[in-house]
Amino acid sequence: MLDEKLETVYDDVIRRNPAEPEFHQAVKEVLDSIGPVIAKHPEFARSKIIQRICEPERQVIFRVPWTDDKGEVQINRGFRVEFNSALGPFKGGLRFHPSVNLSIVKFLGFEQIFKNALTGMPIGGAKGGSDFDPKGRSEDEVMRFCQSFMTELYRHLGEYTDVPAGDIGVGTREIGYLFGQYKRITNRYESGVLTGKGINFGGSLVRTEATGYGAVFFVDEMLKARGTTLDGRTCTVSGSGNVAIYAIEKLAQLGAKVVACSDSNGVIHDPDGIDLELLKQIKEVERGRLDAYAARRKTATHLPGGQIWTIPAEVVVPSATQNELSGRDARTLVKNGCIAVAEGANMPCTAEAARVFIEAGVAFGPGKAANAGGVATSALEMQQNASRDSWTFEFTERKLAGIMAGIHQNCLETADEFGVPGNYVVGANIAGFERVARAMLALGLV
Ligand code: NAP
Repeated sequence: MLDEKLETVYDDVIRRNPAEPEFHQAVKEVLDSIGPVIAKHPEFARSKIIQRICEPERQVIFRVPWTDDKGEVQINRGFRVEFNSALGPFKGGLRFHPSVNLSIVKFLGFEQIFKNALTGMPIGGAKGGSDFDPKGRSEDEVMRFCQSFMTELYRHLGEYTDVPAGDIGVGTREIGYLFGQYKRITNRYESGVLTGKGINFGGSLVRTEATGYGAVFFVDEMLKARGTTLDGRTCTVSGSGNVAIYAIEKLAQLGAKVVACSDSNGVIHDPDGIDLELLKQIKEVERGRLDAYAARRKTATHLPGGQIWTIPAEVVVPSATQNELSGRDARTLVKNGCIAVAEGANMPCTAEAARVFIEAGVAFGPGKAANAGGVATSALEMQQNASRDSWTFEFTERKLAGIMAGIHQNCLETADEFGVPGNYVVGANIAGFERVARAMLALGLV
């Protein structure tokens, strides 16, 4: 329930940002949790910290013209929302997907502020992207699009200003083209301006794996806190992109069995456990669709347009997109024996779904905390770039595991302190908010 003072703030957010439902949802989720902090720190309210946090420092929307392989002119829209730089340079991914609009970029940027704060690293929050659809586009088309996108965006970036990374539709290939164009325009080899780079030009080992691995480290911590482990658990992971693939990999390494994953066309159910090498071959090498997986593996069934959440699982890692798991899905999962959920994606569970899980006593790790491993490893990439160093896989993975354990502990202790033991949503929102709010107070009215 919203605190009365916060209700007015929320009404204002809706009035000032009409027709942005995802942004409203993300703001409400944070405001729902922070009433007790505002009561404890009246100075936050006096300085209008919440109103300031809800207003991006800067928003850029731009035209991205490019030519396709047939010589036809195409126009897309580019976005960068630089939300909050109290803790460090703006930091957050770029998403290329036809559904991208201002509401989605703002919800992601808003979440990113608190997620980045939770990592304990010196990074502010931002997000960007375009309604460009890379599906079915040739290599050359993707490159021309990335070059045109960066031709406008470069003037807003810099290793001390704003440092984008990947997200849906933006992986190492796209980051390579974006970095190449930035380097050409600025005549600077400024490695720290983008993260998620290829290993041979300034990227960090473990960055590719980091979000998925991190989400699984987080689940592992939640289960340990309840005196159990992942060993022998049946799991499902939605999506089959960057986050999903490496969540599946780490779950298998920790002794769990992942029996289903998905893409936007359907679901793969493989009761013997997903064959990761085959999945990587289809998704990372061939850039294909999941029906190809079932065609090559006898034990698997492809359910076109199917529903992954009806498949029973003890541990669930939704890793595709926002609002992909409804209240009804959550009730089905609880009925089928689900004990833990970690949001690999950003806001994949609706507010109702999160409530159902928490009320049923399921260990529920919200995205801000559970998928923070990606951006944390991006910050490790920035550290390596700044010192012209590159760390080993083992060293970097140990750092990631330590960061995730630290975030888990912080959420747990904060939830305890505020009288809601085991509630990671409240723990994450309050811990993230407090760190940003204190920095904003210290920096004055800027
Ligand atoms: P990705 O590699 O592009 O993969 C996205 C996956 O989700 C694909 O399997 C895609 O299926 C599916 N998907 C996307 N939009 C969908 C939709 N509207 N309906 C159904 N399925 C959909 O992206 P990613 O990097 O794994 O990102 C996945 C989620 O994790 C996003 O919420 C992102 O914000 C979040 N996240 C990512 C990172 C990171 O480091 N990459 C960090 C933190 C959070 P199709 O191929 O069929 O579209």
